[in-house]
Amino acid sequence: MGGVCVENQVLRRLPKMDRLLACPTLAQCGLPRPVVLQAARAELEQVRAGLRAGTLERVPALEALAQAVLRRAGALSAPRLRRVVNATGIVLHTNLGRAPLSSKALEAVIQAGAGYANLEYGLAAGARGSRTTAVEELLCALTGAPAAFVVNNNAAAVFLMLSALAAGKGVAISRGELVEIGGSFRVPDIMARSGARLMEVGTTNKTRPEDYAAALEHGAELLMKVHPSNFKVVGFTREASLAELGALARDKGALLLCDLGSGALDGRGPWPADYPTAAEAVRWADVVCFSGDKLLGGPQAGILLGRAELIDRLRHDPLARALRMDKLSLAALEATLLAWRDGDSLPVRDMLAVEPDVLRQRAEALCRRLAPLCPCTAVSVAGEAGGGALPGVDYPSWAAALTPEQGDAGALEAALRSWSTPILGRLHRGALLLDVRTLLPGDDEVLAAALAAWREGTP
Ligand SMILES: *Cc1c(COP(=O)(O)O)cnc(C)c1O
Repeated sequence: MGGVCVENQVLRRLPKMDRLLACPTLAQCGLPRPVVLQAARAELEQVRAGLRAGTLERVPALEALAQAVLRRAGALSAPRLRRVVNATGIVLHTNLGRAPLSSKALEAVIQAGAGYANLEYGLAAGARGSRTTAVEELLCALTGAPAAFVVNNNAAAVFLMLSALAAGKGVAISRGELVEIGGSFRVPDIMARSGARLMEVGTTNKTRPEDYAAALEHGAELLMKVHPSNFKVVGFTREASLAELGALARDKGALLLCDLGSGALDGRGPWPADYPTAAEAVRWADVVCFSGDKLLGGPQAGILLGRAELIDRLRHDPLARALRMDKLSLAALEATLLAWRDGDSLPVRDMLAVEPDVLRQRAEALCRRLAPLCPCTAVSVAGEAGGGALPGVDYPSWAAALTPEQGDAGALEAALRSWSTPILGRLHRGALLLDVRTLLPGDDEVLAAALAAWREGTP
C-alpha cells in the first residue's frame, strides 16, 4: 500500500496539460495546436508509465518536458512516407515501393493530378468515354492480345478473373503452383473467395499435361497456371508449359487462365530468353494477368489480357468498379507503356541491365568518396531482381563494404537507417554493404552526408 501512495505522490507532480502547453517553448513554437496537444498527451503518458514502472525516478523539469513534446510534435508533422536510399541492390523491393517510375511517368502523374483530365471523356466524340481505353490499346499493340483491361493491382486482377469466369466451376491447378505471393495472398484462399472450386493436380515437383487432362475428365472446366514468382523448384521436376496447356484447353473446350506475376511484356529486356512474357502467354492462355510495378516498371496495377468476349465480362463485372485504377496510376501506366513502345529508358530495366564491370567502377568510386569517413572497400555480391520476379536468376553486383573502426557495423546500419533520408543497406559478416545497383542519382551525396554526420557523432 505504501508503494502506491509514494507513486501517487510522484505522479501528482506531473504538470497539468494547461501549464505544459502554456510554457513559451510550446506556446510559441508555431506548430498547429492539435499537433502539440497530441504530442503532449503522448509524452505525459510515457512519463507516467515510466514513473509507474520505476524506470523513471522523478518527474522531469517543465522545460525538459516541453522540449520532448516539441520533438514529438516535429516528428508528427513530418510526412511518414518518405524517400529512402535503396542500397540493398534489390531492384523490385516490395517493402520499398517496387518500381521507381520514369521521369516521363512522373510528369504524366503531375499533369493528370494538378488539374482536370479527360479521364472518362472522349474528346473526339464530346461524350462520356472509358478511363482505360488508352492503356488498353497500347497493351494490345505491344503484346498482340485481342483485348485488355486494367485494375488496381495484380491480386485484384486474379480475383476478378476467377470471380467473373470461374465462380462455381472446377479449376485445375498444379500442386506446385498453390503459392503464397506474400501478405497472406495465397492462391487457394483467393480461389475459395472467388467461388471457384480448386482441383489440385500433379505433385509439388512434377505435374504433367495428363494430370490436367484427368481433372477435365473429372469435372474441371478451367485450367489455371500461376507463375511461381518468388521461388524455384529445382532437381527432379516437370511442369506443363503454357503451350501444352493451351493445346489441351483448346482440344477439350476448356478455358486457360494464367497469372504471370511479374510479367515482362516481351523478350526485350535483361531477363533470360526463356522467361515467360505476356506477349508469349497470350498466344496460349484465354486470359493472362500480371503486375504493373514489377518487371513492367510502372505504377501499381493489375493488367489483364485476353480474348475479347472474356475481357468484356471482366470489364462489366460489378467487382471491376470496386477494383478500378485511379487516374494518377493510369497516367503513369500510359507513360510507362509508351516507353516500352518507343524503346525509351525505364529505371527498372536500366538497373537490371547494368553490366557488372560498370557496377564495379561505381562501387570503387563510391568507396573513394566514403573512405575518408569510414574504412570501405568495393566487393562483389550476388544480386537478385526481387519483388517476386526472376527467382534463381543471378544479377551479380558490386557494393561498398563499410567496416567501422569500432567494429560495430550494426550500429552504423541503425544510424544510417535513421538518417533524415533513411539509407537501407545489408549487414553481412561484420560489414555494412551498400549495393550500388539500386543507387539513384543524388544518393551518393546523401550517403556521404549521413556518414559524415555519423562520424561527427561517434568518438
Ligand atoms: C506479385 C504477384 C501477385 C500479386 O501482384 P500485386 O500486383 O502485388 O497485387 C499475384 N500473383 C503472382 C504470381 C505474383 O507474382
